[in-house]
Amino acid sequence: MPEQSVGILGGGQLGSLLCVAAKKLNIKTVVYCDDKDAPAQIYSDEFIFGNYKDKIKLQEFINKVDVVTYEFENIPFITLDLINQSKEVKPKPEINKIVQHRLSEKDFINKCNIRTTQYVSIKQKTDLNANVKLVPSILKTCILGYDGKGQYRINNLNELENLNIDFSQEYILEKIINLKKEFSIILTRFGHSVHQIYEPIENEHENQILKYSKIPAIIDERILSKAKDWASIIADDLDYIGTLCVEYFIDKNDNLYVNEIAPRVHNSGHLTLNSYNISQFENHIRAVCGLEKVELKKLYNAQMINLIGDQIVPYRSKKYSDNEFFFDYGKKEIKPNRKMGHLTIIQKISV
Ligand code: ADP
Ligand code: MG
Repeated sequence: MPEQSVGILGGGQLGSLLCVAAKKLNIKTVVYCDDKDAPAQIYSDEFIFGNYKDKIKLQEFINKVDVVTYEFENIPFITLDLINQSKEVKPKPEINKIVQHRLSEKDFINKCNIRTTQYVSIKQKTDLNANVKLVPSILKTCILGYDGKGQYRINNLNELENLNIDFSQEYILEKIINLKKEFSIILTRFGHSVHQIYEPIENEHENQILKYSKIPAIIDERILSKAKDWASIIADDLDYIGTLCVEYFIDKNDNLYVNEIAPRVHNSGHLTLNSYNISQFENHIRAVCGLEKVELKKLYNAQMINLIGDQIVPYRSKKYSDNEFFFDYGKKEIKPNRKMGHLTIIQKISV
């Protein structure tokens, strides 16, 4: 019988993979999600379908678990705060509050003396005219954006008329970086001065959605080392518990910027499932549930390919070699731009 029970808010592929990791550690999982078709219910011990503001359903969830975590950041702060009054939510709700709003996220990073892209808050259309100096830029909704959703590229202000932007929401306008590379740092923090960092992961996006990730990243060691320092500063400042991802940009002049923080396991870290002794998912569960920290060991180099929309179809019937690992997230419906699965290919580390 499992002795501990972890509650997971959100039932997508990240939730599924957290459940698989917890099972391996003999920890019971209860997934709570507002999608009745959430794929994680296949992997969890229990599943509760409910709205994130449904206090009765949430109480049922609270009663079943010892500790709570989440697989995505767009969960209302009041929900996390309410749960946290009875069962500890890790990483703590205040962190989610900072990170789920692009403006407070970037303000926080700059407060840590860490570079981000230049940005301003846009509350109405006329704010754009006052910030022409940031164009070409990307206009992003402050909340609820992911996989490039809610983002508009603005090459010149005349284009605005054609974009049909809903200015009842708050936006952030960010200067476009002339990108050389993108990469991410995944870190798991267990407590004060105790954290582990995975090898930096080089990422390629298509249409603002992650398409390829690989280790090792072909990036200057000094830049990677600075990025690891920055990720550690961020995790310490937040007093973070669990797995965290920091996404980075490098521009053509080799300047480093933090793009954003994900207070959770991250798509770019899927390759840790097959290339490390302990994956980002297992490490997250270990940290959140207060288990011991096991020394990380990279076993293989790896690359991951995201299968988006109907790209998954031919992969479902393919034969795979021993070094290829295909994951089908089991989502009921194929939709354009929806992450449906991924393939990881591992290679021996050459010495
Ligand atoms: P999401 O929350 O959807 O992941 P991001 O802010 O990470 O949003 O943007 C998604 C992708 O869009 C980035 O990984 C990058 O490829 C591109 N992008 C976003 N902001 C900028 C920028 N300021 N300059 C250049 N490219 C950007
Ligand atoms: Mg991103």
